[in-house]
Amino acid sequence: MTSIDAADLKRMFDAIAVAIEADKDRLCQLDGVIGDADHGIAMALGFGAVRDALAPLELSATEPTVLLNTAAKSFLNAVGASSGPLYATAFMRGAAAVKGKATLAGADFIALLQAMAQGIQDRGKAEIGEKTMVDAWLPAAQAAAAAHASGKTVSESLAAALQAAERGAEATKDMIAAKGRSSRLGERSLGHIDPGAASAVTVIGAMRKSLG
Ligand code: ADP
Ligand code: MG
Repeated sequence: MTSIDAADLKRMFDAIAVAIEADKDRLCQLDGVIGDADHGIAMALGFGAVRDALAPLELSATEPTVLLNTAAKSFLNAVGASSGPLYATAFMRGAAAVKGKATLAGADFIALLQAMAQGIQDRGKAEIGEKTMVDAWLPAAQAAAAAHASGKTVSESLAAALQAAERGAEATKDMIAAKGRSSRLGERSLGHIDPGAASAVTVIGAMRKSLG
């Protein structure tokens, strides 16, 4: 896909909603081990609300920035858990990164991904190694940017992002949580994958499938 428009982005959000819904129980179980067992519910509520908010949009007359801001608002309103403001900020920053563009070229989409990851980091103030979704999102966005800079297509860049997200999520097992609810567990959080990093893999996987 050489150019991505609002209809493509809507399909992407629909694909994420389906993937997260299918993954809901596993994400709740992961959160049950080091959190409060609601992460799958929170993510499913959020992306379900995004799907419902995007459904009535007249896509041929909708700019990507408007679609992304609609996603941000609906996700934030639907989710009370900490993932709410984190993903809402991701979409809002993504919207700002593509402002004024009717369609996104490959480089625009990579900039969108990077803005999303940076937004999550800025909002939650988590660094790499603190056992959060940042450990999946940041390396994913970096891998996509590096792949694209070396001449890879958006689809190939998303495949690189997915691989990096998977590695990052896996690595959270060996981390002690330093941000969010699970940080209260300290060393007892060791040995368990972070639910937010796990769901980031699902989100990025759905993006790759939908835009690949
Ligand atoms: P809550 O902890 O409020 O129940 P969720 O269960 O929806 O929220 O999400 C938990 C996930 O949110 C964690 O697994 C972690 O990945 C992510 N998270 C929590 N705090 C932060 C933060 N400050 N920065 C980045 N991610 C965070
Ligand atoms: Mg939770």
